[in-house]
Amino acid sequence: MNYHVMTLFPEMIEQVMGTSIMGRATEKGLITLNTVNIRDFSENKHNRVDDYPYGGGAGMVMAAGPVYRTWKHVMEGIKARNPEGTKEKAPRVIYLTPQGKVFNQKMAEEFAKEEDLVFLCGHYEGIDERALELCVTDFVSIGDYVLTGGELPVCVMMDAISRLVPGVLNNEDSAEFESLQDNLLEYPQYTRPVSFMDKEVPDVLLSGHHANIEKWRREQSIIRTYKNRPDLLPDAVLSKKEKQFLDKLIQSEGKNEE
Ligand code: SAM
Repeated sequence: MNYHVMTLFPEMIEQVMGTSIMGRATEKGLITLNTVNIRDFSENKHNRVDDYPYGGGAGMVMAAGPVYRTWKHVMEGIKARNPEGTKEKAPRVIYLTPQGKVFNQKMAEEFAKEEDLVFLCGHYEGIDERALELCVTDFVSIGDYVLTGGELPVCVMMDAISRLVPGVLNNEDSAEFESLQDNLLEYPQYTRPVSFMDKEVPDVLLSGHHANIEKWRREQSIIRTYKNRPDLLPDAVLSKKEKQFLDKLIQSEGKNEE
């Protein structure tokens, strides 16, 4: 996976991506990070990249020129690495914006299949619409709140995507069942000691009976999802028996509320 990030603050992204699991994945060459400073493509003698908004209003807007030239530079770099004809489609260019589609695990899975991903981080009041029209293929938000820049959102996205790239997690199993896979939240986890502050690890997890453990975990996932994120359940991937379990759960909770 090759990430290309167009930003005014490359050091912010390099710092985060150089640490822990992401740092190791980069050292191993499983992911590469190419940060490009949009300011380097300013043609203003003071290196300015922002200007006042037409029509008035508060704040500044990132000008189209520097963003467009940065994008061209990145795309040419990718093309040079993939000589004519070897790459069928142009890489996706993702603008981080609170106006985009809200990022989720399914999107992370889809993006993880790409060879190159190009990200564009905004600042101030955002970016001149014409640059977005010319360069961007996807508009993505990390949630319904407004941040000062796209740098934290891009790190969130790259972290979620990278852990789905084969070999990035030490133990591949640890990405096997996680929250939001099958549209369910993960079951509760326990480690040693067996007893802590008079609270015990559930017996089934100590039984060594794999089928029972699996059944218990799936049921716990269904219970958690029902309690914390019922909005996920209509799209949850459940077996016939698990659907029956959920129906009983809904009925018994309904009775408790009466
Ligand atoms: N005026 C813009 C609007 O109302 O849509 C918000 C601009 S915001 C202050 C500056 C930059 O932060 C945006 O261009 C975007 O790159 C980034 N940003 C802010 N909130 C975000 C979010 N929830 N998800 C992704 N990017 C975000």
